[in-house]
Amino acid sequence: MSADNGVYILHCKDGFRVKHTQAIDNVYWNCHRKTDPEFNARQLFLYFSNCKVFQDEGEAFLEAKRIYDEIMRDDCCPIIEYGICSLGNGTFEFPKELPPCCDTPTLVTIDGQTQCYNCGEYMFSEDEDE
Ligand SMILES: [Zn+2]
Repeated sequence: MSADNGVYILHCKDGFRVKHTQAIDNVYWNCHRKTDPEFNARQLFLYFSNCKVFQDEGEAFLEAKRIYDEIMRDDCCPIIEYGICSLGNGTFEFPKELPPCCDTPTLVTIDGQTQCYNCGEYMFSEDEDE
């Protein structure tokens, strides 16, 4: 079984964000919008919007190390498959708010599940107001 997790340090224009998460591949998944050259901005926002922003790379690394050590002290599952990883090169503008799923969102709801008819992205309850 794969844990598929890591502690990620995201470097954007405004600083560094640190998060332990799984399935980070989602942030590279299908950049639907023309303004998403490096990351899927919507996924990036969903993953990292609640993180503290560090201006100093060293501080961000210390935070990543702190999270790493905390998980490795866990008796139940001390696993971090990818260790501490860096994302981005500081050129990406972190979105101010949740970006739309694509340039022309067309939402349809089937059996209570809302999905964009145009790009296929599923909508979850917290962003149904788009
Ligand atoms: Zn869409």
